[in-house]
Amino acid sequence: MKKLWICLIGGAISLAIAGLLLSIFVGQSPSALDLSARILLALAVAAFIGSALLRPKAMRADPAGRVDALHAQASASSCTFQDVAANEEARESLKGLVDYLKSPEKYARYGARMPRGVLLYGPPGTGKTLLARALAGEAGVPFFALSGSDFVQMYVGVGASRVRELFKNARKAGKCVIFIDEIDAMGKKRDDQSSDERDQTLNALLSEMSGFRPSDGVIVLAATNRLDTLDPALLRPGRFDRQIEVGLPGKSERLSILKLHSRNKPVAENVNWEALAQDTSCFSGASLENLLNEAAISAAAREAERIEASDIRAAYFKTVAGADRPSTASRKERAVIALHEAGHALAARHLVPENRLTRVSILPAGGGCAGYTLSIPPERTMLNKRDIENQICVLLAGRAAELLVGGEDALTAGASNDLSRAAELVGAMVMDLGMVGEPAVALRALHRACGSAGNGAEQCKEVLAELYASVSALLRSHSGELLKLMEALLESESLNGEELEALFAADNSSEIASPDLPCACKKDAPPEGENEGARMV
Ligand code: ADP
Ligand code: ZN
Repeated sequence: MKKLWICLIGGAISLAIAGLLLSIFVGQSPSALDLSARILLALAVAAFIGSALLRPKAMRADPAGRVDALHAQASASSCTFQDVAANEEARESLKGLVDYLKSPEKYARYGARMPRGVLLYGPPGTGKTLLARALAGEAGVPFFALSGSDFVQMYVGVGASRVRELFKNARKAGKCVIFIDEIDAMGKKRDDQSSDERDQTLNALLSEMSGFRPSDGVIVLAATNRLDTLDPALLRPGRFDRQIEVGLPGKSERLSILKLHSRNKPVAENVNWEALAQDTSCFSGASLENLLNEAAISAAAREAERIEASDIRAAYFKTVAGADRPSTASRKERAVIALHEAGHALAARHLVPENRLTRVSILPAGGGCAGYTLSIPPERTMLNKRDIENQICVLLAGRAAELLVGGEDALTAGASNDLSRAAELVGAMVMDLGMVGEPAVALRALHRACGSAGNGAEQCKEVLAELYASVSALLRSHSGELLKLMEALLESESLNGEELEALFAADNSSEIASPDLPCACKKDAPPEGENEGARMV
């Protein structure tokens, strides 16, 4: 009803303006053509003014030139804890708040102090927003969602007034859940560089949070990827005093997330969910959802009856490594790429047989890589020295294969990413983990404690040289396999796990052929991303 009145008044104002403009424009006996042009112009101006008047307040720009999102975001959440898989601890902890949100008076009567604020922390895509929505949905209360960056403003005081406005709206709504995503944008630790504006915004948030009474039934949830960067004032009792970690899912949790997101999809029965859960280590809930969505899109594009295992496999590789692109490399360049990847794959097969070697490809994929080898380690909580050394050897094996078969002239720029990752790992062994030389000495910590302890570069170089020599020897002793794999890659462009197994199971030729390889430059940087669990080299 109120909206109708606003529309009527807005319409009347626009008409009045149109009439006024028309009378001004037609005041001087114009020609018929002039007259119609003027009428059109007057109507256009009136329509513009009218639409500005009629635009809802939520969409109008604020004095700092930003769209006011605070009104627009209050919504009823339709999702519940049924829509969240895994995250057992977080779900249980939040479920305990549902009853409070439904009847806060009950808790007030007992003098119970519920947490004012709950902080969910963990990597992106792990379901923090989903959990907050589920809490509001389950309790049937409005959900206010904002991002910390919405409060970060250029003008002093604007952020703080936004905070106050948000809480004013929330109070009007009665019982509700307020969710502030990326709270670190407004709640970073204060230091010399922090600005008045940010301090005021944070203070406004803290004082608004303290202003609620237990009987109000308002819960503020916030999410961050970096708990350590937050201002300690935010974490004090009475503020975000409950902190819940929302971590990456383990294997069984990934299985339950995959099952949940396949509920509404016609997936073929022969899909091996266990294997998929195994191969998706370090995937977040969001990446798993995305994977199934990609598979659904490709099945829909084919107008297939069901989503087949092959759709899921293709979506998996696309998610992990990026979509395959047609190769533009020359035949000789392709030979170098195939040799380099064969080196990685062979080293992985022999040194880390516990990993699942799922794909070797010489097609360019995401992140500018010219080819890649994907080997998936089993889930484990801690790496030992041998594991790290093996990782380094697998990284160095691409370069070792180039040199072994092609000689100095075949060295390519494509190994640069492998070499820098190997250097980082060996640096950690020497500097942080005390795994080289004196077993109780971590050079970096020693340096901090004593002011000087050497930079460890010589030790790192020695370790790298040793590991490089050992992986070169390994490849030399399996040179037949190396060349066979290289040829198979040149022929098929990519090989999956079963194809690799079949290839290795067949008899080996043993003599190493004389190389015909140019010194081609190729990029071989694996895409940066969240899926580091699957090792791409
Ligand atoms: P975050 O806020 O931690 O970045 P989101 O809550 O925005 O992550 O997650 C994005 C999407 O990923 C969700 O909408 C959902 O589809 C999916 N997702 C993430 N975690 C889970 C989970 N534990 N269970 C089911 N789906 C999940
Ligand atoms: Zn490589």
